[in-house]
Amino acid sequence: MSDTTTAPTSLPENFYPPFLSDVAKTRLPSPIRSLLPLEATPGILSLLAGKPNPTTFPFTSFSFTASAPPSEGGEGGEEDIALTLSGAELAAALQYGPTGGMAPLVDWLVELQHTVHGRTRGEGWTLSVGSGSQDLLSKAIIALLNPGDAVLVQSPVYAGVIPLFHSLHCDQIEVDADADGISTVSLRAILEDWPAGKPKPRVLYTIPYGGNPTGATATLDRRREVLQLAREHDFLIMEDDPYFYLFYGSGERAPSYFAMERADASCAGHPVGRVLRFDSISKILSAGMRIGFVTGPAPLVRAIDAHTATANLQPASLTQAVALKLLAAWGHDGFLRHTRGVSAFYRAKRDVFEAAMQRHLAGLAEWASPQAGLFFWFKLLLPDGGDSAQLVRTEAFERGVLALPGTVFLPNGRTTAYVRAAFSLLTAEEVDEALKRLRETVLAVRAA
Ligand code: PMP
Repeated sequence: MSDTTTAPTSLPENFYPPFLSDVAKTRLPSPIRSLLPLEATPGILSLLAGKPNPTTFPFTSFSFTASAPPSEGGEGGEEDIALTLSGAELAAALQYGPTGGMAPLVDWLVELQHTVHGRTRGEGWTLSVGSGSQDLLSKAIIALLNPGDAVLVQSPVYAGVIPLFHSLHCDQIEVDADADGISTVSLRAILEDWPAGKPKPRVLYTIPYGGNPTGATATLDRRREVLQLAREHDFLIMEDDPYFYLFYGSGERAPSYFAMERADASCAGHPVGRVLRFDSISKILSAGMRIGFVTGPAPLVRAIDAHTATANLQPASLTQAVALKLLAAWGHDGFLRHTRGVSAFYRAKRDVFEAAMQRHLAGLAEWASPQAGLFFWFKLLLPDGGDSAQLVRTEAFERGVLALPGTVFLPNGRTTAYVRAAFSLLTAEEVDEALKRLRETVLAVRAA
């Protein structure tokens, strides 16, 4: 890592317009939302927004309990913490709020990014909250891509982004991935062999930790090369990282792209600002609260906010207020201890699942142990080389086990012998039974 104390040069604001889609460039600002911050002006009497009068809301307080984060040694068991939203907090929880999220929550998360990724406030980046990271991903894709644009997509890829690229008729250029994450050999070959005259892709979508579906985590060297290629070929990196806190690998973990572009020695001397990072609380606090956050260059985050201002106005105030109350009570240390506890929980689940894979599918499937995330990605050893779709959708389902055929994670929808299985929910007994049923299915298909 290079010196992180001196401010880096950030790419200037006027670097970004060429990366913005026509939709983002022509989006009209919301005339009301853009003025809302002025309501905080001291002494102002605001007749601006149609905010309902909170005295008509039938809630008088909102109380909940949360577990205390585990102690440093990993033991939990401390008493639950009782938390109540009242007064100004309750008012904010029940009222419209800022487009990019409640100021104190945004502030807490900005500080978290500083603690975790070493990025200093005020250095050209900003952060907005959305209704889950899916909300922010979909808006970022619309902000960065015009219909028909080429986009670099790590493949296999999170099935939730394929329809987004598809609906824009994007040319999804698949970049291979293996157990070490995105393949830079594949990425370099695509970029260096790019046809002359065809507009080059300006965006790479990648999942650096515990890739969904593969479970693979990109190595430090791969990350360095991706950043170098981004500079050489002038593209932005969408770093979709909901499994960042669920890392089970041994040894030192690689930093995020967002951290590396600022502090890795390989990036020293280069302007900062090519990474748009997506975080989510779904896997660590609650999925139903629908809270995610995007961090990156201010012009790009502003383009996402402009979409929010017209699409859903803002993420829900109540869940933001609940999250903030809890996070503020825990502090950054408590939050990080909690994430380590969650990670240990899933590591144990992964180990149970892998032991059952060994028992039931050794010789019938191949897999790499996932280093992060919630999924096993395995290749069924089928006689015809392989299409898992029929087996998973029909034969396995009829035997009472449900998984996802690998084809749904391939942007071009080609057939594959791979299967994705989530290990997050089932008990050890259920896992054993599920994989036994899968074994029977594979044996029956092989014998047919
Ligand atoms: N990205 C990836 C890679 C995911 O796996 C998921 C959820 N499965 C999301 C984004 C969306 O998460 P959220 O609940 O924050 O919308």
